[in-house]
Amino acid sequence: MTVRTRIAPSPTGDPHVGTAYIALFNLCFARQHGGQFILRIEDTDRQRSTPESEQMILDSLRWLGLEWDEGPDVGGPHGPYRQSERGELYAEYARQLLEAGHAFKCYRTAEELDELREARKAEGLQMALKPADLALPDEEVARREGEGWPHVVRMNVPSEGVCVVKDMLRGTIEVDWAQVDAQILLKSDGMPTYHLANVVDDHLMGITHVLRGEEWINSAPKHQLLYEYFGWQMPELCHMPLLRNPDKSKLSKRKNPTSINYYRRMGFLPQAVTNYLGRMGWSMPDEREKFSLDEMMTHFDIQRVSLGGPVFDLEKLTWLNGVYIREDLDDDAFLAALKRWAFNEEYVRQILPQVRPRVETLSDVAPLAGHFFSGMPRIDETSFDDIKLERETLIKLLQFLTWRFEETNRWDKDALLAEVKGMAEVFELKMKAFLAPVFIAVTGSATSTSVMDAMVILGSDMTRARLRHAIAVLGGVSKKQAKRFEKEYRDL
Ligand code: GLU
Repeated sequence: MTVRTRIAPSPTGDPHVGTAYIALFNLCFARQHGGQFILRIEDTDRQRSTPESEQMILDSLRWLGLEWDEGPDVGGPHGPYRQSERGELYAEYARQLLEAGHAFKCYRTAEELDELREARKAEGLQMALKPADLALPDEEVARREGEGWPHVVRMNVPSEGVCVVKDMLRGTIEVDWAQVDAQILLKSDGMPTYHLANVVDDHLMGITHVLRGEEWINSAPKHQLLYEYFGWQMPELCHMPLLRNPDKSKLSKRKNPTSINYYRRMGFLPQAVTNYLGRMGWSMPDEREKFSLDEMMTHFDIQRVSLGGPVFDLEKLTWLNGVYIREDLDDDAFLAALKRWAFNEEYVRQILPQVRPRVETLSDVAPLAGHFFSGMPRIDETSFDDIKLERETLIKLLQFLTWRFEETNRWDKDALLAEVKGMAEVFELKMKAFLAPVFIAVTGSATSTSVMDAMVILGSDMTRARLRHAIAVLGGVSKKQAKRFEKEYRDL
């Protein structure tokens, strides 16, 4: 048997460090067994998937040195590797399940589903809706079908008993069937859900081992059952521990930069980031901190993964990056890294229009454009002395804008302008007054190049990191304040 693993990202946002982490382990596992590593794009959520996000994911993984043998951009014998291009395939498999009685058409309306859930809750039962709950009398099904009501296809699931799933790291996992709902397989628009598409594709693409994040454990019983229904052999499952913030909460963009774009922009070396991700819950047999991707592949052993939540610690990564710069880069390599990073024509060209109107000599450029070539600006509380806002309002303004930017999918000037305008209205401030503190947070000074353009050029992650940094410099948000802010923000 040839070992085949895969990474199956959904292109719905920034390229997440968690995706790179799981990709790395899948790649090492495959290579260690002389197998293949596949990249599949899971874009069945048409609303949220974008080609830009897909491109960023491919670019980031490649930047980290994680190369795949088959994928949407390199092709391969099992393509297409983008679920949106796999046509009627999933509907066909759903039909098979319907015919075999393993799935059923469900004509329930959203209101009825809410009522059913409420009823279960009132009875103190699990919220999972089971096939028996969803069933309608035959005549009613016929009527709704005849009248062309929208419907979904759901899978049948046992109502009781225990489902036992094998996991390469965890031994056996037991899940009560009572907690497992009659999962939707095909949506009313005929598109598959993650569960159906994932199982069908893993099978058709010959995937033998699925290494994925532990957030998918609850899906495993449904997947196992689908494999049984189809009569296919299920790949071996391995649920990796989730990356955590230093306070042990799940790594989230609210607390830490989670996008690989940020680390790239911040000037981390890809080999240091990959090395650091390899240290997440895994260690070399000799426990050394610094190792290359090749060395990790050679010495890889999945059983050396420890399940205690690995902490993604920016300080440690920064330290390791410094070690790489000092130990591994001679002058030529250092220069090459700097060029790749920001001292290149493509990047500098974006900055020219920003500085041209504001300089008289070329030597004015570096002081004026320093914020395009740095990480966190050197600011302290006094940097905001001229801002005529109460401290609490000032912090709230920066916080609300950060939250708004977390939800902004499009990162271009028009989109950012709309967000900023909206927020200025919330605070009943003129644009200029609203932007004044943002200016300091993002560019590090009260007079600089256009802050709107700077945010576009710096990108979402660096912008948000700087806003978060400014909040911290101003004393941060207390737990009590955070609660209040969150409520106010929700009520906007
Ligand atoms: N598309 C899923 C994700 O975004 C894949 C999960 C899996 O590996 O099964 O993570």
